[in-house]
Amino acid sequence: MIKVFEDFDIALVGHYQSVLESNGIATFMKNQFGTSGAGELPFVEVVPQLWVLNEAELERAKALIEDLHGPDDLKQAEAWVCPGCGTSQEAAFSHCWNCSSARD
Ligand SMILES: [Zn+2]
Repeated sequence: MIKVFEDFDIALVGHYQSVLESNGIATFMKNQFGTSGAGELPFVEVVPQLWVLNEAELERAKALIEDLHGPDDLKQAEAWVCPGCGTSQEAAFSHCWNCSSARD
């Protein structure tokens, strides 16, 4: 059994589990009852974890989760620097407020 994902958000872990299961990957969720034993158990024992039962399906499971999860930094637009005058620009602007150069 191999762990493929863990998160304090039990709904997210449950969602990934159902996606993997619907793709024919057998899974097991650990700690799905959350923090009920938090006073007794070490911190790491209470994070909901998604495990894949069959090692042969690990790569496919990881790929599916990556598709769903994605790199966090792609969710946020980035600030940029004007190629014309070098001033810092807010992510929302498409043109420089200072010299009107287009965003590169
Ligand atoms: Zn500029």
